Amino acid sequence: MPLMRIPYTAPLPPPIILPTSASTLPGAVAALADFLRPPTTTTAPNGKTVILSGAGISVASGLADYRGSNGTYTLNKTYRPIYYHEFCANHEARKRYWARSFLGWTNLHKSRPNKAHYAVGQLGEMGILSSVITQNVDSFHPKAHPGLRTLELHGYLRSTVCLSCRTEYSRESFQQDLAALNPSWAVFLSEMLSSGALSTENPLERRLKGLKTNPDGDVDVPGIEYTTFRYPACPACLANPPTGTKVQQSRDGAWEPTSTAGVLKPAVIMFGDSIPDPVKLAVEAAVDEAERILVLGSSLATYSAWRLVRRAQELGKPVGVANLGGVRGEEQFFAKVGAGGEGREGVRCSLPLEEVLPALVERLRAGVGASGMSTEIFRPAPWG
Ligand SMILES: [Zn+2]
Repeated sequence: MPLMRIPYTAPLPPPIILPTSASTLPGAVAALADFLRPPTTTTAPNGKTVILSGAGISVASGLADYRGSNGTYTLNKTYRPIYYHEFCANHEARKRYWARSFLGWTNLHKSRPNKAHYAVGQLGEMGILSSVITQNVDSFHPKAHPGLRTLELHGYLRSTVCLSCRTEYSRESFQQDLAALNPSWAVFLSEMLSSGALSTENPLERRLKGLKTNPDGDVDVPGIEYTTFRYPACPACLANPPTGTKVQQSRDGAWEPTSTAGVLKPAVIMFGDSIPDPVKLAVEAAVDEAERILVLGSSLATYSAWRLVRRAQELGKPVGVANLGGVRGEEQFFAKVGAGGEGREGVRCSLPLEEVLPALVERLRAGVGASGMSTEIFRPAPWG
């Protein structure tokens, strides 16, 4: 059965905190240190932890999440992401999508991984992580820790991909093409950039300047018409159209709606699109081979992410979740975790990742165990 990406809009429960000591920063750090501690014996294939991250880990990089206090769904009640079938079928929908993406790209492109991403990389260097599965399309994980494997569940914005021939084309080059094809939009973009509307990291300030940014990297500009926007065709299809298709462009290089191929789409899994089988199998294998799973900055609202945690739980693996706010169906993930434990059986905390994760790295480096008394030096797992 294809695994489709669909949005989840039901309200989330208030967060559970487990063990109860994880309600403070030092308590959460101690519980997570105990959770991640490699076992002395293991029946799991690698004894390590797989990370599953979501939009919450990128908030400190200046990107909005979906459901946080400054999240897209929270601030902008009418926001509705484009669906895959709309994008594929509708030239007008693509014009709107690319116009908004044209304005949003600069901000995303100059955003950088934050302390939380680098802390994940440092945990990887300690030998306690096996891989990172991310729902994010911002490429921050592969940038922050190229040596620790990242599986991008929902694709990535750094490339476009052709709907006809599947060739990827750099989003950065695509941006230059859009600027050349839409000179008045390029002027608007440079005005927005010089006004600082696109450079502030505060979503409220952005909104006051008429800009709303969402995690997929596009911007809402009230009163702007999208119908005049133009976008280029796939260069590979232009040079060599797939059999039985025609790819036509205007004299200056805009894709013409008389074409039957050569449409570029961002290399992300849009809502209503299916996750490719190789990605689905790779993330399942990453869960199966790990000893436990730690969710960072995700409410698991997206089924494709939620089912991975359920899969881990069904396989008897401990679950940890560090997310500000509630998580979809979380009571079932922590039903067997005691309130008075030390974190080994499971952790649930609701604190900022850019504070928790660097403190966790520091604690593990100092060799302090869950009790806070140990002077034993932390050693990476010997099977690492
Ligand atoms: Zn193509």
